[in-house]
Order: sequence, then structure tokens, then C-alpha cells
Amino acid sequence: MIDQQTPTAPNDRQYRTRSAFDARLLPAIAALLLVLSALPIATAYSRQLATPTAGHDTALIEPLRLLHERGARLTLDEARSELAEGRFERNDHPAGNYGFRPEGMWFHLRLRNPGIEDPNWLLMVNYPLIDYLEVYIITADGNVSHRRSGDRVAFAERAIPMREPNFALSLPPGEVVEVFLRAESQSSMQVPLVVAPAADFLADRIPGNQALGMYYGVLAALGLYNLILHLSVRDRIFLWYVVYLVSFGILVAVLNGLAFQYLWPAFPDFGNRFLIVSIPLALMAMLQFSRRFLETDRHAPRLHRLINWTMLALLAESIAALFLSYRTCVLVETASVFIVTPLVLLAAFRVLPRYRPARYFLLAWSTLLISLIVYSAVSFGYLPKQPLTEYSVQIGSALEMVLLSFALAYRFNLLKAENERIQSDAREQLESRVRARTYELDATLKRLEDANRRLEDFSRRDGLTNVYNRRHLDHLLQQALTDAHDHAHPLALMLLDVDHFKQINDRHGHLAGDDCLRAVARCCREMLSGSEGTVARYGGEEFVVLLPSTGLDAAQRLAEALRERIERLLINVDGRTIPLTISIGLHCAAANALPLSGKDLIAAADEALYRAKQDGRNRVQLCAASATGS
Ligand code: GH3
Ligand code: MG
Ligand code: MG
Repeated sequence: MIDQQTPTAPNDRQYRTRSAFDARLLPAIAALLLVLSALPIATAYSRQLATPTAGHDTALIEPLRLLHERGARLTLDEARSELAEGRFERNDHPAGNYGFRPEGMWFHLRLRNPGIEDPNWLLMVNYPLIDYLEVYIITADGNVSHRRSGDRVAFAERAIPMREPNFALSLPPGEVVEVFLRAESQSSMQVPLVVAPAADFLADRIPGNQALGMYYGVLAALGLYNLILHLSVRDRIFLWYVVYLVSFGILVAVLNGLAFQYLWPAFPDFGNRFLIVSIPLALMAMLQFSRRFLETDRHAPRLHRLINWTMLALLAESIAALFLSYRTCVLVETASVFIVTPLVLLAAFRVLPRYRPARYFLLAWSTLLISLIVYSAVSFGYLPKQPLTEYSVQIGSALEMVLLSFALAYRFNLLKAENERIQSDAREQLESRVRARTYELDATLKRLEDANRRLEDFSRRDGLTNVYNRRHLDHLLQQALTDAHDHAHPLALMLLDVDHFKQINDRHGHLAGDDCLRAVARCCREMLSGSEGTVARYGGEEFVVLLPSTGLDAAQRLAEALRERIERLLINVDGRTIPLTISIGLHCAAANALPLSGKDLIAAADEALYRAKQDGRNRVQLCAASATGS
């Protein structure tokens, strides 16, 4: 680019190229860059031209001069006479940045090819957003050619189809050409001029284009990757990231002129309107992503409300941009950038102590901010211009997007871990509750079983004597018979009857009678303890003693012992002793003569009992069948 200030000596380093941006508008530009990071791309290759190679750095043979129009628009002839009258002033803005000024500006250059054979040169304005440019090229023989360019003029009018307005210059070796350039812009008036042989110029653009390609490659890859993530994990935050990234990418393309070149080359007015409508939308996307990522609704509710209101204001701004003037919109939107950027930073800082992913968010944002600071420092001349510093915003914003993508992954993992922890906690709680309930249930079941067992036992016993009752006796008898059959064992049965019991009742009362029955039952139990024998109340004052696997002799001995023991019992009622005797009918079935039914056993014993009574009571009588052993 041409140094627009002071060619120190004619024909010498007068045309040293420099940075594309003027320091004065940098705060505004930097703020826009914060969102858009576009303009460094425009300068990406200017460094190539800024380092003059021997032979073609000497095109300008007179200092660049300029003239501000006051009111009326000048014609070429008027501009020429102004120059002749010395009203053109020397350029004191080396970066070609003249701030916001709606009036037109004229530039005058006198050029000479210092001996390069190729006569095809190019004049370029290294700022894609300049509105109107008109160039008058006056050859040595006085021929004047006129061309127009700028982002308000159809793209087709450019000499070479590229992002920046440019004009073809025919500059045969040794020939001198005079150029008048008129510029007009509703936004920032930036006219960084570059003059170079077309071939060198195009070769110099290659690295810049490659950088641009890489930049968009990174954005596209991140966008696609996160879109796929959104589709697979169904977390809306990935979608908002993609929206932010796409709006950012489109805006960058508008700002660096690529959108005009490829999307709407025939509709320059649409492009300008699109830019001012889409800046607030891009800021909205940025806020939306930030508030969703930082979960400001949970961690900073008041700031969250402020963000919501800001987003609403941005929406209004975007709608208003459909009707308001370009200049008003650019000013308002530049101010918006200064509100939105600190708001996002503030939100990140507020959420930081409570929410770990905010660290990574802040880190991502810091790379962009640092890159902007570096870029500004380079533009102000505080830092040397090197590829790393010059491409800093490009690198910074790409890094920001990459880091944000990492931040998203970190956030996702954190949420997943948290989810798993909650799930395992819930599972543990559930398991311990189930364990407790199972334990309780087991205990209850056990109590119920005990109660059932007691109830069952209770239902088998006689209420007065607590020996087995008649019903259970039938069961026991059947079981004993089956066992005896199965194992070919003998089976003995005694039927006991208290003698003259009616008289006891009559003499001593029924309660005393009950005591006697209890005493008889107790005696029977004690005699049978340790043996397989069981006792049951048959009814009234009659008992049955069942003796499995017991032969005749043993049964007789036991019956006799039982009779004697009861005879010796001393039952006291009201100081008087009640004499008590029993008669026993005994039947003992040998293993080979077992009856089929318990009734037969009882009947046989009953017959014996009857005889015992007949024979005078208080005795044991053996059933006839037992005695014969049949
Ligand atoms: P024997 O020597 O011939 O057997 O004469 P006994 O009086 O014992 O026979 P009997 O069948 O005439 O009388 C039985 C009595 O037993 C009649 C009844 O009142 C009495 N008895 C039956 N069950 C109970 C009872 O649970 N408690 C009392 N106290 N008496 C009962
Ligand atoms: Mg009786
Ligand atoms: Mg009796």
C-alpha cells in the first residue's frame, strides 16, 4: 500500500506500504472486529505489498495529496483546477483512515513505471466496505479514462473480480500517469491505496487467500461437528453454538467483501442493508449462546434479565435497520458492540465462582480479546507487524471458536458426570430402601409364620388339658398306622377312662373335676416324655395314648405304670384329697396284624376298656386280639 503521507524523496521509498487501518477509528473497528474478526483478512496480504521488492516500489513520483469537498460535488476539471491552485493538501493519515465524513474526498497520485516490462498495473483500495470510488486516469498524452467501483457499485465493474475495489492501470515502462480518485462513504472513510504490477499483486494475494480458506475451513468444520453433536445428543446448546458461528461467519464474509463477491454481486444496496440488519442479529446469537452456556438464569438471574432486555433491544435495532439510514445504524450498532461485549464478559465473571465451565468460556473469549489487543497494538505501531501479530484477530477468533467447542465438550462431560452421580445416588437410596423394606417384610412374615404355627398348634390342642384334641388324634392315628405299615412296626393304643368321674363331679364340683382331668393329662405326658408316644383327649374323661413301634410287653408295662401313678396321685381340693383311678383298655397290633383303619384300633381298645370296667375298674385290660397276638 502506498504511504499516503510523505514520500521523503522523489523516486525513492515514497510508496512504502503500511497497515491498512488508521489508529483513530480503531476502537470502533476493534469493537466490530470483536464480533466479526473480518478486517484483518483484508490486511492479510497487504503485508506482502508492504515489503517493496527492488524495482517496483517507486511508482509514486510525487507525494500523495488530497482534497476534502466542501458542500458541492466537484467535477474532474474542478478538482484539477483546485490542484493547480494548490488547494490539495499533503496526506497526514498514513493508514488512509479519515474517520466518519459524509462529504467526498479527492486523491491525486502521479505514477511512473520504474522500468518493469509488464505495463499491467493495478490500483486497489484495501477496504472492501468503501461506498463509492471514481477513478480518472490521465495518460501523458492527455487521454482521460473514467471508472467506478466500491460496495455500492455493481461488482462487475471491478477490473479484477476480488473482494476489494480495484482498477486496472496501464503503465508502460518509463511512462508517467496521473490519477484522480474520488471517494465517498456513509460509514468510515478508509482509503488505503495499493499500487503494484498486476502479476506481483496477484501472486502476493495467495497466502492471504489461503489463510482465509483455512479460516473458513475451521469455522465450517466446527459448525458441522457441533451440528452433528446437536443431532446426536439433542442438547440445544450445540445448536446455539452453530447459530453463533454461522452468523459470525456470514458477517465476516460481508465485512471482508466475500459476500458481495459471491452472494449478491449485482445487488450492492441489498448487501449494505443486509450488513446493518445482520449485525444486531449476530450480537443476539452471541448473547443467546453465552447465556445458555453460562446458564445465567440459574447462576446470575439479574444479569440474565438484563441480557434478555438487551437481546430484545437488539431485535428492535435489527428491525429498525430495515428503515433507518445506513450511517445511523452503523453508529448505533458500533455502540451496541460496546455494550454487548462487556455484558458477556461480566456474565462470565459473575458465573465463574459457581460454574466451572465458565473458566473455559472466559479462556475462549480471552483469546479473542487478546488477539484484538495485539491487533490494535500493531495498528497503533506498538507491536511489530509479523504474520502472528498481523493475523492475530483471525487466529484469535478461530481459536475462540475451537476453545468454545472444547468448553462445550467440557460442559457436556460435567453434566454427564453430574447426571451419573445423581442416578447412582438415587439407585443407592432406592436399594437401601428396598433392603430395609425387605428386612421389615421378612420380620413380619416370620412373626406371621410364628403366629400361624401357634394358631395351628392351638387348633390341635384341647383347651382344658392342653393335650392333643380328638380331631388331631384322628390325624395322628392315621399317620402312625401308615408309618407302622411302611416300616412293619407294631402299634399300641391305650384308651383311658377315669373311674366314677361323675361322682367326683357330683361330690367336689366340676372345677375339681377339671383339675382331675388336667392331672391325668399331665401324668400321661410325663410318662411319655422322651418316647415316641403321644396323648390326646378322646372326649369327656377319656384319653387315648398312642405308642408307635411299641410291642405288647412294653405297652403293658407302660399302661400298668400309668395306672399306678394315677392311683398314687394326691389331688387336693379344699383341704380334701380326691382319690383318682383309671381303667385302661390296651390294644397292641403286631406288625403283621395291623388294621387298616384307626377306628379298628380304638374299637379294640374300647372293648378292652369295657372289660376293665366290668372287672372292677382301676386296672389294665388287654384286648383279646392283642393277647392272642393276632
Ligand atoms: P365309669 O366309672 O363307669 O366311667 O363312671 P363315670 O361316672 O366316670 O362315667 P360317666 O360316663 O357316667 O360319667 C362321665 C362324666 O364326666 C359325665 C360328665 O359330666 C363328666 N364330664 C365329662 N366331661 C367333663 C369335663 O370336661 N369336666 C368335668 N368336670 N366333668 C366332665
Ligand atoms: Mg366315660
Ligand atoms: Mg368314667
